[in-house]
Amino acid sequence: MTAVSDVTNPSITATPAGADDPALTTSVRRAPLNDFRDEPKSTAAKVLIGVFVAVPMLALAAAIPLAWGWGLGWHDVVIALVFYYASGLGISMGFHRYFTHLSYKAKPGLRIALAIAGSLAIEGPVLTWVADHRRHHKYSDREGDPHSPWRFGDDWRALTKGLLWAHMGWLFDSNQTSREKFCPDLLADRKIARISAAFPALVVVSLLAPALIGGLWSWSWQGAVTAFFWASLVRIAFLHHVTWSINSICHTFGKKEFEVRDKSRNVNWLAILSFGESWHNLHHADPTCARHGALRGQIDIAARLIWFAEKLGWAYDVRWPDEARLAGKLTGKRRLGSMTMPRPVAAASVSSEPISPISRGAA
Ligand SMILES: [Zn+2]
Ligand SMILES: [Zn+2]
Repeated sequence: MTAVSDVTNPSITATPAGADDPALTTSVRRAPLNDFRDEPKSTAAKVLIGVFVAVPMLALAAAIPLAWGWGLGWHDVVIALVFYYASGLGISMGFHRYFTHLSYKAKPGLRIALAIAGSLAIEGPVLTWVADHRRHHKYSDREGDPHSPWRFGDDWRALTKGLLWAHMGWLFDSNQTSREKFCPDLLADRKIARISAAFPALVVVSLLAPALIGGLWSWSWQGAVTAFFWASLVRIAFLHHVTWSINSICHTFGKKEFEVRDKSRNVNWLAILSFGESWHNLHHADPTCARHGALRGQIDIAARLIWFAEKLGWAYDVRWPDEARLAGKLTGKRRLGSMTMPRPVAAASVSSEPISPISRGAA
């Protein structure tokens, strides 16, 4: 079995913790992963996460009305939203659900578009992103995970350090994930490997295209400068923090709605900004599932876009939530939402298991 298939199968990702990192090994041995899930969140930790993530974002939001009319106009807002969506969906639909987890198959045109769009997020070349993320799933919250907030232990000080590590610190780790081991499928694809190698050029495009559009749209240098500030710099910074929050916040805080072996959680307030990526607990419970917000009412923009692409014939063989597969992992009485493949009637009637509380929902 290849490394690629390994990382998409949650049943074989439970690699035992090694002995190289005493802090991590001790924490894992002292308290097996399942024991941490019902632990109450400490107030101090909540304040910490608020300071590091929410407050800078609120400060940025507060600056918007101050700048309106002289340093920010609706042109900038439109260009920023378009680039936020293009690059964010490139990460969520493309780098993550398609290239890393093979949640669906895509026609060649969509495959290329997703590789380019994801690169515009400036989160690294597609090969690097996929290799790191497959390693994350292989070792999730254990030794070997590139960005676990539980890396240094589970007491307050260790978790403080771990949250900063999971959010940004890991980016400066000199260890580089092996592409040969974790994404040989993409390395073998000449077109994707070429897009990955063209990452520096795509960074320039991501930075300068908003400025060019803003300048031409307003026919002024001022329009180019403000579009560069809001639609390039602010848009990239904001998307970075949202993506990093999946690694930090969504492995520490939030709801455990599905059984998992790690500390991944569903975080509802990040759902729209992250295009559905913050339904991270379901994602770790069933990594190849194309819809992460699988429960009824959980907004998942990327899943809806995959649904549209499927209707248009651009995407196919989509791995929608499978009622039979998820029934045993659901911890509460919530129902699965639309796009769910219902449990076959025959299989359900002969099953000796208790009747599942989940069923195919309407929305
Ligand atoms: Zn993933
Ligand atoms: Zn994760």
